[in-house]
Amino acid sequence: MPLDYRELSSFDIKNIASRDDVIAVIPVGSLEQHCRGPLGLDGLIAEKIAWESCKALEARSSGLCIILPTIYYAFSPEWGEVEGTLSLKIPAFAELLESIISGLRRAGFKRIAFINGHGGNSSIIEAILRESAGESYTLALINYWEQLNIKLDHAGPTEKEIAEQLGVKAEMGECEETQYRNKPRIITGKTRKPATMKISQQTLTREQIIEGNAKALEEILKTNTIGKLI
Ligand SMILES: [Zn+2]
Repeated sequence: MPLDYRELSSFDIKNIASRDDVIAVIPVGSLEQHCRGPLGLDGLIAEKIAWESCKALEARSSGLCIILPTIYYAFSPEWGEVEGTLSLKIPAFAELLESIISGLRRAGFKRIAFINGHGGNSSIIEAILRESAGESYTLALINYWEQLNIKLDHAGPTEKEIAEQLGVKAEMGECEETQYRNKPRIITGKTRKPATMKISQQTLTREQIIEGNAKALEEILKTNTIGKLI
């Protein structure tokens, strides 16, 4: 069974952290509007995927996950106007991530993986991993939806289906127009489509969701690449 970081002692960490087959896993989510669904949905999904994928990994390898508390305070400025959304400023989020990585490094962890459930976090986590990369340890970012080859919608049918498959309660209902007020239009590499766009629905089984991410964890165990990003 994966170990819960909160339940371990300093002595446990001292004995286990530096093992080559141990991965420190940090689920990351957000606190943001999901229509009528839970504000913490992204983190609830990421946490569930972390535990289930780690169990799948351990069932077929000597790998062991130590799962840290989920980071819910993250980066969702696009929903900042909508009641309930709490978003950290970039420096605060970046420093939070840096502090966690350096603390885990000091404890001796050689493999550290963030399992991310919120698209808006990705570029910041990746930048911090690049900045924190070192020769003697592996850092990884697993955006869970990328392991499943799906386009993740926000509070839409795909996210709802993933939540359901994982047993996370997510009655999103219909969004109200006001929930999209002042939604910024940002064009990055790909043209952003409005949140109401029709997405191509795919049916994913619980096994596919878990397996896709267990494979990513397995990759982390195998690699000794410097600062490898999944
Ligand atoms: Zn979400």
